Amino acid sequence: MKVVNWFWIALSLGLAVSGCSKSSIYGDHGDLSPGFCKQWNPDFDYNGGRCAFNLSGVTRKKVKGCNLSRRQFSYCGDMTPTQVSYSERLKSRHDIDALTLISNSEHSSEQSFLSVNDGFLAEGRRVIPTSYNRLALRFPTRCTNFGTDAMAGMLDWLGHEIVKNFPGKKYAGIKLVIGDVAAPRGGCLWGHNQRVCHKSHKNGLDADVGYLTVRPGHSSPIEFHQIFDARSNYWFLKKVFHNPYACVKFIFLDRRNIAKLARVAGNDPEWKVMRRFIQHAAGHHNHFHIRIGQGPGQPGCFAPDSRLASNSAAP
Ligand SMILES: [Zn+2]
Repeated sequence: MKVVNWFWIALSLGLAVSGCSKSSIYGDHGDLSPGFCKQWNPDFDYNGGRCAFNLSGVTRKKVKGCNLSRRQFSYCGDMTPTQVSYSERLKSRHDIDALTLISNSEHSSEQSFLSVNDGFLAEGRRVIPTSYNRLALRFPTRCTNFGTDAMAGMLDWLGHEIVKNFPGKKYAGIKLVIGDVAAPRGGCLWGHNQRVCHKSHKNGLDADVGYLTVRPGHSSPIEFHQIFDARSNYWFLKKVFHNPYACVKFIFLDRRNIAKLARVAGNDPEWKVMRRFIQHAAGHHNHFHIRIGQGPGQPGCFAPDSRLASNSAAP
Protein backbone atom coordinates (compact mmCIF):
# COMPACT_ATOMS: atom_id res chain seq x y z
CA MET A 1 0.00 0.00 0.00
CA LYS A 2 1.45 3.34 -1.05
CA VAL A 3 1.63 5.78 1.85
CA VAL A 4 1.98 9.53 1.54
CA ASN A 5 1.89 12.26 4.14
CA TRP A 6 -0.37 14.83 2.55
CA PHE A 7 -1.02 16.98 5.57
CA TRP A 8 1.89 19.35 5.22
CA ILE A 9 1.42 19.57 1.48
CA ALA A 10 -2.20 20.57 1.99
CA LEU A 11 -1.30 23.05 4.69
CA SER A 12 1.40 24.70 2.62
CA LEU A 13 -0.76 24.94 -0.48
CA GLY A 14 -3.80 26.21 1.33
CA LEU A 15 -5.81 23.05 0.71
CA ALA A 16 -5.62 23.53 -3.03
CA VAL A 17 -4.18 20.14 -3.90
CA SER A 18 -6.16 17.04 -4.64
CA GLY A 19 -6.04 13.97 -2.44
CA CYS A 20 -8.36 11.02 -2.42
CA SER A 21 -9.52 9.57 -5.65
CA LYS A 22 -13.13 9.72 -6.70
CA SER A 23 -14.57 6.65 -5.16
CA SER A 24 -17.46 4.70 -3.73
CA ILE A 25 -18.16 7.27 -1.06
CA TYR A 26 -19.47 9.53 -3.79
CA GLY A 27 -21.91 6.87 -4.91
CA ASP A 28 -20.43 5.93 -8.29
CA HIS A 29 -21.20 2.24 -7.97
CA GLY A 30 -24.26 2.11 -10.15
CA ASP A 31 -22.57 -0.63 -12.18
CA LEU A 32 -22.18 -3.13 -9.35
CA SER A 33 -23.25 -6.58 -10.43
CA PRO A 34 -25.92 -8.36 -8.36
CA GLY A 35 -23.59 -11.37 -8.13
CA PHE A 36 -20.86 -9.27 -6.53
CA CYS A 37 -23.30 -7.66 -4.12
CA LYS A 38 -24.77 -11.03 -3.19
CA GLN A 39 -21.29 -12.37 -2.51
CA TRP A 40 -20.32 -9.56 -0.15
CA ASN A 41 -23.30 -7.54 1.06
CA PRO A 42 -24.82 -9.34 4.06
CA ASP A 43 -28.08 -7.39 3.68
CA PHE A 44 -28.45 -8.13 -0.06
CA ASP A 45 -31.11 -10.86 0.04
CA TYR A 46 -33.05 -9.07 2.76
CA ASN A 47 -33.29 -6.07 0.48
CA GLY A 48 -34.83 -7.98 -2.39
CA GLY A 49 -31.59 -8.39 -4.32
CA ARG A 50 -30.68 -4.70 -4.30
CA CYS A 51 -27.05 -3.73 -3.75
CA ALA A 52 -28.02 -0.84 -1.47
CA PHE A 53 -31.10 -0.60 0.69
CA ASN A 54 -33.63 2.12 0.96
CA LEU A 55 -32.31 4.50 3.57
CA SER A 56 -35.59 6.16 4.30
CA GLY A 57 -36.93 5.12 7.65
CA VAL A 58 -33.62 3.95 9.09
CA THR A 59 -33.47 5.03 12.70
CA ARG A 60 -32.27 3.34 15.82
CA LYS A 61 -35.71 1.88 16.41
CA LYS A 62 -36.93 1.38 12.86
CA VAL A 63 -34.49 -0.67 10.87
CA LYS A 64 -35.77 -0.84 7.34
CA GLY A 65 -33.04 -2.35 5.22
CA CYS A 66 -31.19 -4.17 7.99
CA ASN A 67 -31.50 -7.91 7.87
CA LEU A 68 -33.44 -8.90 11.00
CA SER A 69 -31.85 -12.35 11.02
CA ARG A 70 -28.47 -10.66 11.62
CA ARG A 71 -29.69 -9.13 14.88
CA GLN A 72 -26.72 -10.44 16.83
CA PHE A 73 -23.83 -9.27 18.92
CA SER A 74 -21.03 -11.14 17.14
CA TYR A 75 -20.27 -11.14 13.41
CA CYS A 76 -17.38 -13.63 13.50
CA GLY A 77 -19.44 -16.01 11.35
CA ASP A 78 -19.26 -13.53 8.44
CA MET A 79 -15.48 -13.93 8.08
CA THR A 80 -14.04 -15.29 4.86
CA PRO A 81 -11.38 -18.05 5.01
CA THR A 82 -8.77 -15.41 4.11
CA GLN A 83 -9.84 -13.21 7.02
CA VAL A 84 -9.78 -16.19 9.39
CA SER A 85 -6.28 -17.24 8.37
CA TYR A 86 -4.97 -13.64 8.57
CA SER A 87 -6.38 -13.34 12.10
CA GLU A 88 -4.93 -16.66 13.22
CA ARG A 89 -1.54 -15.89 11.73
CA LEU A 90 -1.24 -12.58 13.56
CA LYS A 91 -2.55 -13.95 16.83
CA SER A 92 -0.14 -16.90 16.85
CA ARG A 93 2.98 -15.16 15.52
CA HIS A 94 4.10 -12.35 17.77
CA ASP A 95 7.02 -11.49 15.51
CA ILE A 96 4.78 -10.28 12.68
CA ASP A 97 3.99 -6.58 12.45
CA ALA A 98 0.56 -6.09 10.86
CA LEU A 99 1.57 -2.65 9.63
CA THR A 100 4.38 -4.17 7.57
CA LEU A 101 1.89 -6.58 5.98
CA ILE A 102 -0.52 -3.75 5.21
CA SER A 103 2.21 -1.50 3.84
CA ASN A 104 3.52 -4.27 1.57
CA SER A 105 0.06 -5.35 0.44
CA GLU A 106 -0.52 -5.41 -3.27
CA HIS A 107 -4.23 -4.93 -2.68
CA SER A 108 -5.33 -2.94 -5.66
CA SER A 109 -9.05 -3.59 -5.72
CA GLU A 110 -11.60 -1.40 -4.02
CA GLN A 111 -12.88 -2.60 -0.70
CA SER A 112 -15.63 -0.20 0.35
CA PHE A 113 -18.78 0.08 -1.71
CA LEU A 114 -21.70 2.48 -1.77
CA SER A 115 -22.07 4.88 1.12
CA VAL A 116 -21.20 4.79 4.80
CA ASN A 117 -24.94 4.47 5.52
CA ASP A 118 -26.00 1.81 3.02
CA GLY A 119 -22.84 0.11 1.81
CA PHE A 120 -20.75 -2.97 2.41
CA LEU A 121 -17.14 -4.10 2.60
CA ALA A 122 -15.33 -6.55 0.33
CA GLU A 123 -12.13 -8.26 1.43
CA GLY A 124 -11.96 -6.14 4.54
CA ARG A 125 -8.80 -6.07 6.65
CA ARG A 126 -9.08 -6.90 10.35
CA VAL A 127 -7.62 -4.47 12.87
CA ILE A 128 -5.64 -6.63 15.28
CA PRO A 129 -3.83 -5.70 18.49
CA THR A 130 -0.19 -6.83 18.29
CA SER A 131 2.94 -6.33 20.35
CA TYR A 132 3.85 -3.53 17.95
CA ASN A 133 0.77 -1.33 18.08
CA ARG A 134 -0.69 -0.80 21.59
CA LEU A 135 -4.23 -1.27 20.32
CA ALA A 136 -6.98 -2.87 22.40
CA LEU A 137 -10.42 -3.96 21.25
CA ARG A 138 -13.42 -2.77 23.18
CA PHE A 139 -15.32 -5.93 22.15
CA PRO A 140 -12.75 -8.64 21.35
CA THR A 141 -15.40 -11.28 20.55
CA ARG A 142 -17.68 -9.13 18.38
CA CYS A 143 -15.67 -9.20 15.13
CA THR A 144 -16.62 -5.65 14.21
CA ASN A 145 -13.00 -4.59 13.77
CA PHE A 146 -12.82 -4.78 9.97
CA GLY A 147 -12.13 -1.94 7.59
CA THR A 148 -10.42 -1.09 4.37
CA ASP A 149 -6.63 -1.43 4.19
CA ALA A 150 -6.47 2.35 4.61
CA MET A 151 -8.48 2.12 7.83
CA ALA A 152 -6.50 -0.81 9.23
CA GLY A 153 -3.25 0.93 8.24
CA MET A 154 -4.26 4.19 9.90
CA LEU A 155 -5.30 2.56 13.19
CA ASP A 156 -2.25 0.32 13.32
CA TRP A 157 0.04 3.28 12.51
CA LEU A 158 -1.57 5.28 15.34
CA GLY A 159 -0.81 2.38 17.66
CA HIS A 160 2.83 2.50 16.53
CA GLU A 161 2.98 6.25 17.14
CA ILE A 162 1.78 5.71 20.72
CA VAL A 163 4.64 3.24 21.25
CA LYS A 164 7.11 5.81 19.88
CA ASN A 165 5.78 8.78 21.79
CA PHE A 166 5.21 6.98 25.09
CA PRO A 167 8.20 4.67 25.47
CA GLY A 168 9.35 2.83 28.55
CA LYS A 169 7.76 0.80 31.30
CA LYS A 170 5.84 3.60 32.93
CA TYR A 171 3.78 4.14 29.78
CA ALA A 172 3.50 0.48 28.77
CA GLY A 173 -0.13 0.33 29.90
CA ILE A 174 -1.38 2.97 27.46
CA LYS A 175 -3.72 1.45 24.91
CA LEU A 176 -5.78 2.93 22.13
CA VAL A 177 -9.26 1.44 22.48
CA ILE A 178 -10.91 0.51 19.21
CA GLY A 179 -14.70 0.17 19.23
CA ASP A 180 -16.85 -0.75 16.25
CA VAL A 181 -15.34 -0.32 12.79
CA ALA A 182 -17.36 -2.65 10.54
CA ALA A 183 -18.38 -6.29 10.29
CA PRO A 184 -16.18 -8.59 8.16
CA ARG A 185 -18.35 -7.85 5.09
CA GLY A 186 -19.81 -4.61 6.38
CA GLY A 187 -23.56 -4.05 6.47
CA CYS A 188 -25.75 -3.21 9.44
CA LEU A 189 -24.38 -3.59 12.95
CA TRP A 190 -26.72 -4.48 15.75
CA GLY A 191 -26.00 -3.89 19.40
CA HIS A 192 -26.64 -5.56 22.73
CA ASN A 193 -30.15 -4.17 22.93
CA GLN A 194 -31.50 -5.60 19.66
CA ARG A 195 -31.26 -2.22 17.99
CA VAL A 196 -29.13 -1.06 15.10
CA CYS A 197 -26.33 0.71 16.90
CA HIS A 198 -24.97 2.94 14.12
CA LYS A 199 -26.39 4.72 11.11
CA SER A 200 -23.00 4.38 9.41
CA HIS A 201 -20.11 1.90 9.99
CA LYS A 202 -21.33 -0.13 7.00
CA ASN A 203 -18.46 -0.02 4.52
CA GLY A 204 -15.23 0.03 6.52
CA LEU A 205 -14.65 3.80 6.46
CA ASP A 206 -15.85 4.62 10.00
CA ALA A 207 -14.19 3.79 13.30
CA ASP A 208 -15.09 4.53 16.91
CA VAL A 209 -11.94 5.14 18.94
CA GLY A 210 -11.70 5.82 22.67
CA TYR A 211 -10.08 8.93 24.11
CA LEU A 212 -6.39 8.58 24.78
CA THR A 213 -5.73 8.15 28.48
CA VAL A 214 -2.17 8.82 29.62
CA ARG A 215 -1.50 8.00 33.25
CA PRO A 216 2.12 6.99 33.95
CA GLY A 217 2.25 3.67 35.76
CA HIS A 218 -1.38 2.89 35.06
CA SER A 219 -3.13 0.91 32.38
CA SER A 220 -5.71 2.59 30.17
CA PRO A 221 -9.31 1.50 30.77
CA ILE A 222 -10.30 -0.87 27.95
CA GLU A 223 -13.63 0.86 27.66
CA PHE A 224 -14.94 4.16 26.37
CA HIS A 225 -15.01 6.79 29.11
CA GLN A 226 -15.69 10.50 29.46
CA ILE A 227 -12.35 11.64 30.88
CA PHE A 228 -10.97 13.89 28.19
CA ASP A 229 -7.44 15.16 28.63
CA ALA A 230 -7.29 17.83 25.94
CA ARG A 231 -3.48 17.95 25.72
CA SER A 232 -2.89 14.27 25.05
CA ASN A 233 -5.94 14.02 22.79
CA TYR A 234 -4.80 17.07 20.82
CA TRP A 235 -1.51 15.26 20.24
CA PHE A 236 -3.50 12.21 19.20
CA LEU A 237 -5.75 14.08 16.76
CA LYS A 238 -2.76 15.69 15.08
CA LYS A 239 -1.41 12.20 14.51
CA VAL A 240 -4.77 11.12 13.08
CA PHE A 241 -4.69 13.97 10.55
CA HIS A 242 -1.02 13.26 9.72
CA ASN A 243 -1.46 9.53 9.22
CA PRO A 244 -0.02 8.41 5.88
CA TYR A 245 -2.61 5.70 5.14
CA ALA A 246 -6.01 7.41 5.01
CA CYS A 247 -7.31 10.89 4.45
CA VAL A 248 -9.61 12.03 7.25
CA LYS A 249 -13.00 13.18 6.02
CA PHE A 250 -14.53 14.00 9.41
CA ILE A 251 -14.08 13.47 13.08
CA PHE A 252 -17.27 13.55 15.13
CA LEU A 253 -16.92 14.65 18.74
CA ASP A 254 -18.95 16.31 21.45
CA ARG A 255 -18.80 20.12 21.25
CA ARG A 256 -17.57 20.48 24.84
CA ASN A 257 -14.47 18.47 23.99
CA ILE A 258 -13.97 20.40 20.75
CA ALA A 259 -13.90 23.56 22.88
CA LYS A 260 -11.29 22.01 25.20
CA LEU A 261 -9.12 21.16 22.19
CA ALA A 262 -9.42 24.73 20.92
CA ARG A 263 -8.13 26.09 24.22
CA VAL A 264 -5.09 23.79 24.11
CA ALA A 265 -4.45 24.50 20.42
CA GLY A 266 -4.28 28.26 20.90
CA ASN A 267 -2.84 29.80 17.75
CA ASP A 268 -1.48 26.57 16.32
CA PRO A 269 -1.99 26.94 12.53
CA GLU A 270 -2.63 23.21 12.23
CA TRP A 271 -5.75 23.59 14.39
CA LYS A 272 -7.29 25.91 11.81
CA VAL A 273 -7.01 23.14 9.23
CA MET A 274 -8.12 20.35 11.56
CA ARG A 275 -11.05 22.29 12.99
CA ARG A 276 -12.81 22.40 9.61
CA PHE A 277 -13.14 18.62 9.76
CA ILE A 278 -14.12 18.14 13.38
CA GLN A 279 -17.88 18.27 13.93
CA HIS A 280 -20.10 18.06 16.96
CA ALA A 281 -22.27 14.97 17.06
CA ALA A 282 -24.52 13.95 19.92
CA GLY A 283 -23.44 10.80 21.70
CA HIS A 284 -19.73 11.42 21.18
CA HIS A 285 -18.91 12.43 24.73
CA ASN A 286 -16.85 9.27 25.29
CA HIS A 287 -15.20 8.50 21.95
CA PHE A 288 -14.07 9.86 18.59
CA HIS A 289 -15.82 8.74 15.43
CA ILE A 290 -13.25 8.89 12.63
CA ARG A 291 -14.48 8.81 9.04
CA ILE A 292 -11.90 8.33 6.31
CA GLY A 293 -11.73 8.28 2.53
CA GLN A 294 -10.39 5.56 0.29
CA GLY A 295 -6.68 6.20 0.72
CA PRO A 296 -4.12 8.80 1.76
CA GLY A 297 -4.88 12.43 1.10
CA GLN A 298 -5.43 15.85 2.52
CA PRO A 299 -7.92 16.50 5.35
CA GLY A 300 -11.47 16.40 3.97
CA CYS A 301 -10.46 13.98 1.19
CA PHE A 302 -11.39 16.49 -1.45
CA ALA A 303 -11.49 14.91 -4.87
CA PRO A 304 -9.82 16.50 -7.89
CA ASP A 305 -13.29 17.61 -8.93
CA SER A 306 -14.21 20.03 -6.15
CA ARG A 307 -17.91 19.78 -6.99
CA LEU A 308 -17.89 16.50 -5.06
CA ALA A 309 -18.94 17.26 -1.54
CA SER A 310 -17.32 15.72 1.47
CA ASN A 311 -19.53 13.11 3.11
CA SER A 312 -20.79 14.32 6.49
CA ALA A 313 -23.64 11.79 6.74
CA ALA A 314 -24.72 11.06 10.29
CA PRO A 315 -22.38 8.86 12.28
ZN1 LIG B 1 -19.30 5.68 15.23
